[in-house]
Amino acid sequence: MIRTRFAPSPTGYLHIGGVRTALFCWLFARRHGGQFILRIDDTDQQRNVQEALAPILSGLKWLGIDWDEGPDVGGPKGPYYQSKRAGFYTAAVEELLKRGFAYRDYATTEEIQDEREAAVAEKRDYVYSRRWMAETPEQQAAFEAEGRQAVVRLKMPREGQLVLDDLIRGRVEFDWAREQDHVIQRADGSCLYHLANVVDDRAMEISHVIRAEEHLSNTPRQVFIGQSLGYEMPQYAHLPFVAEPGSKTKLSKRKLTKYLKNRDFAALVEHGQRIADAIGLETSPEEFNPVIVDFYRQIGFLPEAIVNYLALLGWSLDDRTEHFQVSELIEHFSLDRVTKAAASFDPKKLEAFQDRHMQALPLARKSAMAIPFLQRAGLIAAPAGADVEARVEAVLTAAGDRIKVAGDVLDFAEFFTPDDELVYDENAVEKRLRKPPEAVELLTKLRARLADADTFTPESLEGLMHAFIEQEQIQVGQIIHALRVAVTGKGVGLGMFETLAILGREHVLTRIDRALALV
Ligand code: GLU
Repeated sequence: MIRTRFAPSPTGYLHIGGVRTALFCWLFARRHGGQFILRIDDTDQQRNVQEALAPILSGLKWLGIDWDEGPDVGGPKGPYYQSKRAGFYTAAVEELLKRGFAYRDYATTEEIQDEREAAVAEKRDYVYSRRWMAETPEQQAAFEAEGRQAVVRLKMPREGQLVLDDLIRGRVEFDWAREQDHVIQRADGSCLYHLANVVDDRAMEISHVIRAEEHLSNTPRQVFIGQSLGYEMPQYAHLPFVAEPGSKTKLSKRKLTKYLKNRDFAALVEHGQRIADAIGLETSPEEFNPVIVDFYRQIGFLPEAIVNYLALLGWSLDDRTEHFQVSELIEHFSLDRVTKAAASFDPKKLEAFQDRHMQALPLARKSAMAIPFLQRAGLIAAPAGADVEARVEAVLTAAGDRIKVAGDVLDFAEFFTPDDELVYDENAVEKRLRKPPEAVELLTKLRARLADADTFTPESLEGLMHAFIEQEQIQVGQIIHALRVAVTGKGVGLGMFETLAILGREHVLTRIDRALALV
């Protein structure tokens, strides 16, 4: 049985790089009819685990990355929180001690530090002398009589090599001599993360450890622990990291200021901020950040677009195919086609994926995504009635590919604002209504025509406009801009006749009256 796991630490956010790891673990498991486990690596005692975990769980759920075992769903190999598994770890430490692969060490921090400094001064690699190692009860008693306390260290091999067959990186060799006698249990009895990880991977019957490249260097000590305990070891696959836009450095949530110098990145943040402002979303600069998945959810990206894009950060089917539905990713995903090189996060490309998925989205779903934004902006009531829904659909249809993300519906707030609250853009009013000498007269005449029109469809309105222009002997530009400002308050917007038809006669006339009163 193929079993993979994603093992996040509760950090309070879901990082793009982290979710890419989760996605690959999940795709691999789903591809092979296996199971995907979510395990929470919270060995470093943390008070607000649930709070710090919430964005990670909700982010994964939003993306459709579901887990067969883990928080919320439980499972036969639980608990799925490392903080609740201490008993397994201390038992493993005892076993390692018994088998002679670990020892109690009574050195003080200062003594270790002195040895390290001596090695540096003599320009040689540091190797612990094991001077304070105790392997017998007598040695222990002697050190304890000096008032010393023990940690438990691995008794690592000092020569030879570990050869690892990594499913992505191929054959990787590690010299044991470069490893330290890593601590696995602190003086207070708590166990360290590397030990916990190996114990849990075995207990949870993980067949494939698919994780970020930065853990490659931890693998020798983990393999040593596992082999010393007689475990059957999982296969390892170390994914290349997700790099910054246009560079080879690892993407980091903390380097927002630097990334904002990248035009595309800055444009994405600005886009998001515009939507956040319109819905009154309080954003902190660190959290409202395209390196964090929640950014996309909050402004109305499609989860399937993100998944599609992330799948290609380090994996490809061939040199051509870029657009995948999730089911196709599951069908085709393989670790053989994961690259060794870091894949750079490209905001513009992500937006292009979003655009494409958005344009293909059925209208009903697009509208269901857009409505909450209008509600949060206070433009429509909740629940939205059928007529409001119809209006949202009409606006979305007329807006077409101007709706890049669901929150973009707020660029067309004028369709949902009550007439007496419509805000007029001062510059547009000046330029289109006040300045042209004929504007008021033409608008007044057109208003009369509109009031009398038999029908109010885009086609009939276009016909009406043609007749009007002909009769008045004017250019279309002499009336259309004035009309637009009058009914939308803005100088630019959707097609004029669609705009009129969507607003409906009553609102159009009221708004023209308001505009005329204004000038
Ligand atoms: N908790 C580790 C992390 O956040 C996971 C390590 C692993 O996958 O082995 O990166």
